Amino acid sequence: MAHSIPDDTIRRIKNAANIVDIVSEHVVLKKAGRNHLGLCPFHVEKTPSFTVNAEKQIFYCFGCHTGGNIFSFVMQKEGVSFPDAVRAIAGRYGIDVPARHLTAAQKEQLSDNERLCRINEEAMRYYQRMLLDARHGQKAMNYLLGRGMTREVIEGYQLGFAPARWDGLLRHCQDKKISAEWLVKAGLVIPRKEGNGHYDRFRDRVLFPIANLSQQVIGFGGRVMGDDLPKYLNSPETPVYNKRRCLYGIHKANRPARAAGRVYVVEGYFDVLAMHLHGLDNTVATLGTALTPDHVQLLKGMVGQAGQVYLVFDSDQAGIKAAQRSVTVFEQGFLDARILVLKSGHDPDTFLREFGPDDFLKSADKALGMIPFIIDAAITTHGLTLQGKVKVVSEVQDALVAVQDSVARTLYIKELSERLQIDESAILDKMRHVSGQHQRQAPSAAGPAVVFAPADGRRLEQQIVAMMLCYPLMIPEIVGRNLTECFEDLNLKEIAKMIVERGAGEQESAADIVSLVDDPAYRNLVAQLAVSDCHWDRQGCERILAQFEMRNQRRGREDLQRQIEEAEKNNDIDLLSRLLKTKQRQAGKGLINL
Ligand SMILES: [Zn+2]
Repeated sequence: MAHSIPDDTIRRIKNAANIVDIVSEHVVLKKAGRNHLGLCPFHVEKTPSFTVNAEKQIFYCFGCHTGGNIFSFVMQKEGVSFPDAVRAIAGRYGIDVPARHLTAAQKEQLSDNERLCRINEEAMRYYQRMLLDARHGQKAMNYLLGRGMTREVIEGYQLGFAPARWDGLLRHCQDKKISAEWLVKAGLVIPRKEGNGHYDRFRDRVLFPIANLSQQVIGFGGRVMGDDLPKYLNSPETPVYNKRRCLYGIHKANRPARAAGRVYVVEGYFDVLAMHLHGLDNTVATLGTALTPDHVQLLKGMVGQAGQVYLVFDSDQAGIKAAQRSVTVFEQGFLDARILVLKSGHDPDTFLREFGPDDFLKSADKALGMIPFIIDAAITTHGLTLQGKVKVVSEVQDALVAVQDSVARTLYIKELSERLQIDESAILDKMRHVSGQHQRQAPSAAGPAVVFAPADGRRLEQQIVAMMLCYPLMIPEIVGRNLTECFEDLNLKEIAKMIVERGAGEQESAADIVSLVDDPAYRNLVAQLAVSDCHWDRQGCERILAQFEMRNQRRGREDLQRQIEEAEKNNDIDLLSRLLKTKQRQAGKGLINL
């Protein structure tokens, strides 16, 4: 693989990093025998088929057939290149990836995404310094302190200030040799409409850096301090920042949310900070979009399927709207969410200041699930007159259709029919009509779905590769009998060769092999074979090898027979006699009619 990171650095990272820890940042894993199991982050599923093997440092999903090692996991989960993945993992284990040894040409190769994150980080440092510098940032600092923020929060969340200048960041970055072209790509400066030159996107605003799970800065949210519009200005979409896939505060909330099995989703930056101030660290915010399927996957990665997600709103209306918009994505992501509406128009900030965290938790305890909340809200809005009931049913039918669990759906319908005093069958009729219109589609798997349905010989070849990965002690035997030479599947043959070259007995050889295989389908296959529970004993291994040899001999015989028939047809007496001799020799060895 062409990259600029020294091999021994990669080895150090491999030695330090544990795939279970890395995956656990995204997926709630449970120990199951030799493996860890969890819900796949690459496709939507209800029963865990995502398997992690700590011994081999490999993951594999039996649902969507995605597999690999720590690096491929981070690459696919974060959508980054190999060097980016290496750096992200290295950072977590405090290993320095020597960038200074790079040649100018290698520096060029540093992937675009990583460069964008670094530029954002440089901008963050600049904005931070501006905030802390009394000449520039006094007003902003007063504003933040006035909103109840503490120095600890301001530093912890690395808040900053963009001064009221057109070229503050631009000049700073020019000093650092960052080109305007790259600043445009990062969304930090804008080309002037007329003439040449650029100007800063963020001016006279308090800035909130937005980070991903790997603690990389991917964008910014900027808020004015007065009444100017827009009140909030965010980074535009860039290769590293997509608001549909980001949650503000996730880099800080991930661990506490995992520990608590609970995460709060609030509406804004200040809400996240206020929650943090009151010890509710397990809080994230969406960035001005409705919750997307990607968000649901992120949330599920934080708390697991059985975890609790609370969507926090400052009014019934906001809660109703969000519940109606989000019920389908949560249902399709198989994740439950509760709607927490704070009393009398309070947002988390004002609520916590007035009532404190205990009351907040009490309100959370009373929060309803999405469907009960939608039903409740519809009844409150429309009442139980005849017309009201008709409206209630038509308002909740979409949500009911979205419910994936048929038992849950039946119970909701029963409850609705009781509360409205109308027949269940009438509600069902209405819903059938709706679901007919929708023709809902099952959520599609995100990963590349390569399904192997191997023929018999191919299956044996796979088993032999699995054996080489699981029982390295068998490798000399396999090599000695020349078995891999007979492989029909050339990719498997290549993989077998790599395993042999890598040497027997290496604990993490599967994880290494994964790095060497270029074809993603075969990479996934190696991971699959490595995590598959091949619990054979020595005799079981021997049996498979014997079967494979028999198949090869059968193939040889069939081949020979074909050649004999061909020679007969062509009247090639010489060839025919040679072939018949071979056949006799084989029969003499007892290889025929086994
Ligand atoms: Zn999967």
